[in-house]
Amino acid sequence: MFAQMKAAALSELHFCEHGDLHAVIAIHNTRLGPALGGCRILPYQSEAAAIADAIKLAKGMSYKAALAGVPQGGGKAVIMEPEGDYDRETLFREFGRFVNSLGGRYITAMDSGTEVEDMDAIRLTSPYVSSSSNIGDPSPSTAMGVALGISIAAQFQLHKSLDQLSVAIQGLGHVGMDLAKRLHLAGARLVVSDIDSDKTDFARQYFKACVVDVDDIFHADVDVLAPCGLGGVLNQHSIPRLQCAIVAGCANNQLMNEAAGDALADEGILYAPDYVINSGGLIYCSTRYHGGNQAQVDSNIQRLGQTLLHIFSEARQHKVASHRVANNLAERILYGEQPHA
Ligand code: NAD
Repeated sequence: MFAQMKAAALSELHFCEHGDLHAVIAIHNTRLGPALGGCRILPYQSEAAAIADAIKLAKGMSYKAALAGVPQGGGKAVIMEPEGDYDRETLFREFGRFVNSLGGRYITAMDSGTEVEDMDAIRLTSPYVSSSSNIGDPSPSTAMGVALGISIAAQFQLHKSLDQLSVAIQGLGHVGMDLAKRLHLAGARLVVSDIDSDKTDFARQYFKACVVDVDDIFHADVDVLAPCGLGGVLNQHSIPRLQCAIVAGCANNQLMNEAAGDALADEGILYAPDYVINSGGLIYCSTRYHGGNQAQVDSNIQRLGQTLLHIFSEARQHKVASHRVANNLAERILYGEQPHA
């Protein structure tokens, strides 16, 4: 485990085992401020899988905060979902005590599997929580940033606007469904997949989306693939099947590894680095946690568009993959002499 921490340059790893709660909090880097990152609850296959997820996600949050210009470090929490029946409010209250024990070095928020109500339960035992009902769900802000990222990528790579675009969305959850709505309203043609047929039915009915099987989304003949489910979907199996010109979605850690980003670039596919275009939720949580309003959130999200354009331009000029340009930029802020905040 220490080798894993060292490899990710992770500063702290915390564990809690209490009643039904089996949780991990990973704090990556707090140079720019207290770590802020979502809490996932998933039926992890093993403790090792939960720990690896927390570490990888916490690192991504540091990079995300660095490029989003928010005064936060990177952290993430994962809860191993208990098997069978459990009292959800009790679980999240207990998780709140765990968050509280870190004295504010980690601020939690919603992520895959968690809802605003869970954040409200945490708030009963800890003040270090964003996206409780007094603040709200960050997902629409994430979707706003992703839609902006898609529009910038489409102009850059294809000289197309949203109304001329076809987009395949994998995963119609909190972010994916909101993204589908935004893109539909902007005139884009949609192809969608989800393991939940209620969600695909909704998108078909309200957004005129073409529904495909979960395995077929990767070779949909579209301009843009937007992975909005879980991570690791861009790998040696999926990349050779892609028909799109651009990959731009909200899922964290879409690239299975660095080589996957290089493989996309080799195929001539423009990749919008996930942590750059999905930072709208972090911007929302940080801005609202510090007392800012929605207008400030929206204007901070617009800045991610400038960062993305800079990354694309550098990647094209120096003939390197976009994820490497983004990582270098973030690392200069996290480890260089002049942090931005
Ligand atoms: P969510 O759990 O609400 O949605 C995920 C969706 O993906 C669900 O509808 C699920 O049924 C679907 N799905 C799962 N496996 C699938 C598969 N194999 N094929 C197709 N669909 C599948 O999660 P969310 O909050 O929308 O977040 C989605 C991703 O974006 C996650 O990786 C999350 O970490 C990341 N993210 C979310 C936010 C946010 O504000 N919620 C911010 C930044 C990043």
